[in-house]
Amino acid sequence: MSDVTGKDGGELRALMARVPSVERVLASQAFEAIIAEYGRTHTLSALRATLDTWRTDAQAGRASVDGLADAALAHAVDATLAKRMRSHVRSVFNLTGTVLHTNLGRALLPDEAVRAVAEILTRPANLEFDLDTGARGDRDDLINGLICELTGAEAATAVNNNAAAVLLTLSALASRKEVIVSRGELVEIGGAFRIPDIMSRAGAKLREVGTTNRTHLKDYDEAINPKTALLMKVHCSNYAMSGFTKEVTLAELAPLAKARGLPVAVDLGSGTLVDLAQWGLPREATVRETVAAGADVVTFSGDKLLGGPQAGLIVGRREFIAKIKKHPLKRALRVGKLTLAALEAVLRLYRTPETLRERLTTLRLLTRPADAMRVAAERIRPALQCMTGDEFAISAEPMFSQIGSGALPVDVLPSYGLVVRLASGKRAGGHPNRIEKRLRELPRPVLGRIADGALWLDLRCLEEADEAAFIAQLEARA
Ligand SMILES: *Cc1c(COP(=O)(O)O)cnc(C)c1O
Repeated sequence: MSDVTGKDGGELRALMARVPSVERVLASQAFEAIIAEYGRTHTLSALRATLDTWRTDAQAGRASVDGLADAALAHAVDATLAKRMRSHVRSVFNLTGTVLHTNLGRALLPDEAVRAVAEILTRPANLEFDLDTGARGDRDDLINGLICELTGAEAATAVNNNAAAVLLTLSALASRKEVIVSRGELVEIGGAFRIPDIMSRAGAKLREVGTTNRTHLKDYDEAINPKTALLMKVHCSNYAMSGFTKEVTLAELAPLAKARGLPVAVDLGSGTLVDLAQWGLPREATVRETVAAGADVVTFSGDKLLGGPQAGLIVGRREFIAKIKKHPLKRALRVGKLTLAALEAVLRLYRTPETLRERLTTLRLLTRPADAMRVAAERIRPALQCMTGDEFAISAEPMFSQIGSGALPVDVLPSYGLVVRLASGKRAGGHPNRIEKRLRELPRPVLGRIADGALWLDLRCLEEADEAAFIAQLEARA
């Protein structure tokens, strides 16, 4: 083997001869527990992979016989299998400071929803069965009453998410017709949800009116023609306009639509069911206010400010909801029983406004006082300092959280957390990115955010019940 570098051919052959038989290794005591946990097939395949890696390393002069000991092989195989068998869907600690983080699954569900879902997971349910009449039922009926009660709408239906709600609404009400939208509201929500694209997918023709910064009522009025099917307003969600701007409010638009015999649809995005200002949060138009202001159809998400599971809700006038429900796309976009169970449980919490702040997880996190996070920061700081070592300085500092999911983009919530910076005088290749990576590789990954050369860990979404587990995990890796 003249092309082998690092070892001469004879020495390498001698080393290779030391590779044990896989049968013998698998029969060794070191592998007993591994086979019991992962089964023989997986263990064998991981062992072969480990030995292949060792052979490659040996040829490159990077391996020794120590790596072939039963215990060393068992250790490597165990690590490989632990990683290979780990779930791909995993829980993390969200210390990004964004409460409704789209990439981290948005709203966290309250216990009431967890119990409702758990029950329906293993038992048949009346998903489409009317228990009063014994006849076939409609899955929307399971939540209609509650949604109408909470929004003041005449009727409601639920689909997979709000993008689906908008697509279905436009398909059912405006296919091959025109929809009038202000140029200031032609938004992209992220993840490829863009109003003009959804519009064309729904087979509707977008009729833009006004300008980017200013749209007047007469712009809508002049654009109405025999092909117009719908006037639409879209919540700007993830951006805000200021300066020389003019938006036509729903209260102004609704009378025009009515006079011209056209419906108005509003894509609210977040869809709050209660006035958040009562808890000191920024004000958002509620679904009820939007319905009352004259919207014929309103679409909103289940997992943004509402605090429930991923879903898209469509509420409004009976005749339009009936038309939407009859469209063939409804069947393709409908929600499953887990969503309905979780949604009903969350909506029920809204019936008792006095306890909503405490019981609805999203609201509890959004209204958590900065002082609670400050105290938590002091408790956690020593464990984090221990883990990072003295190369890094950890300090408890005030910071600002965001609501997220395009809700109220310009508003920030006073919070508190830990900031990881390179300790002064320590410049030997250290960077908070290294700590960010180590935290991300923990059994339950910890996600913060890097800004201004530091790692910021906002403690708003680490509630006290989770704190001990969080600290234990840091201490285990110290
Ligand atoms: C978030 C949002 C959507 C998309 O909702 P998903 O539930 O993410 O599908 C659509 N329109 C607006 C205005 C939004 O804010």
